[in-house]
Amino acid sequence: MAEQTKTNQFHDSEDGDIFDLYNACDGQLQNGLLDIRQLDEFSDAERAELNMTRLRETWIHTASGCSQCEEIVQILNSARGMLSDKKEPFAEPVYDLSTTHAFVN
Ligand SMILES: [Zn+2]
Repeated sequence: MAEQTKTNQFHDSEDGDIFDLYNACDGQLQNGLLDIRQLDEFSDAERAELNMTRLRETWIHTASGCSQCEEIVQILNSARGMLSDKKEPFAEPVYDLSTTHAFVN
């Protein structure tokens, strides 16, 4: 029972440490895990705002092979992928009116 609670706190909806870690790592993956090296990119001011110790604890937890965290990261990544897909592949040819106009003149 106590062990269960200890594990779940990392992806509890109220704490959501895995979400914080995902954002802090900018969703970058390294060997299937969130790229912990991203945390070294933060400035001291940013580090002070983020709970680095907590983020690292969370990462160690994900590295222990938690399937729930893995799933959350996958969901977040696919949601992000869908967002970025919108920008390009389905773009229709756009006639550049400014160029046409300039050509006419
Ligand atoms: Zn987990």
